[in-house]
Amino acid sequence: VIDISALNKSFGDFQVLKTVDLEVDLGERIVICGPSGSGKSTLIRCVNGLEQYDSGTLIVDGINLADPGGVDRVRSEVGMVFQQFNLFPHLSVLDNLTLGPMKARGLSRADAEALAMEYLERVRIPEQAKKRPRELSGGQQQRVAIARSLCMKPKIMLFDEPTSALDPEMISEVLDVMVELAEEGMTMLVVTHEMGFARKVADRMVFMDAGEIVETGTPSVVFDAPKSARFRAFLDKIL
Ligand code: ATP
Ligand code: MG
Repeated sequence: VIDISALNKSFGDFQVLKTVDLEVDLGERIVICGPSGSGKSTLIRCVNGLEQYDSGTLIVDGINLADPGGVDRVRSEVGMVFQQFNLFPHLSVLDNLTLGPMKARGLSRADAEALAMEYLERVRIPEQAKKRPRELSGGQQQRVAIARSLCMKPKIMLFDEPTSALDPEMISEVLDVMVELAEEGMTMLVVTHEMGFARKVADRMVFMDAGEIVETGTPSVVFDAPKSARFRAFLDKIL
């Protein structure tokens, strides 16, 4: 459902993605890890057109991002959750969730609110609907951000270090929601260093270093026997 082939991208004369190839099947869960600056965020930002690439092909659900209107069509199918929750601070939780469905999907306010409450139940914070984001804990805000993405009924979800801005005691409440989403069959591309989560849900691990995919494989294989010295060194540092 995602087909990345020979993707190259530079910022000035710094090449951040070096001929990256990655295919993701429908329903597959991919965890991407790697050192800071290795290009993880840039790669997944390319997938929903937040970042432009220089060359190569990127096809999401049959839509070529380079086609006219491609970025808009892809974005309507792909949800993204960031490290910083990126909620609208001046809107209530409920209004954060209803905005997209009303504007982009043409839902009535009543229908959008019903949908929003359904997803707030799923992330277990329906009682927070009337509050502003700043009145919530980080873990709650991130669950709002996930619910907001899900309200748009995405086919694919991208996560860029969704728990790395959270206090340790809030990490699991966000990961639990992501595990449930994985169990429901969502196609997920997750940048994270939460290796417990990776072991639990990843169909495939992707290790990036210096703009390249250095190693991929199932968690059980790559954790127990990483092939490349770079991946081994990385795992030694984070585990
Ligand atoms: P981290 O683990 O720290 O989030 P990352 O693997 O996500 O790192 P990227 O954010 O993709 O890495 O960045 C890769 C490289 O590209 C970094 O060296 C970064 O400084 C550079 N870079 C990223 N965005 C830009 C930009 N808008 N302009 C210039 N350089 C950038
Ligand atoms: Mg990053």
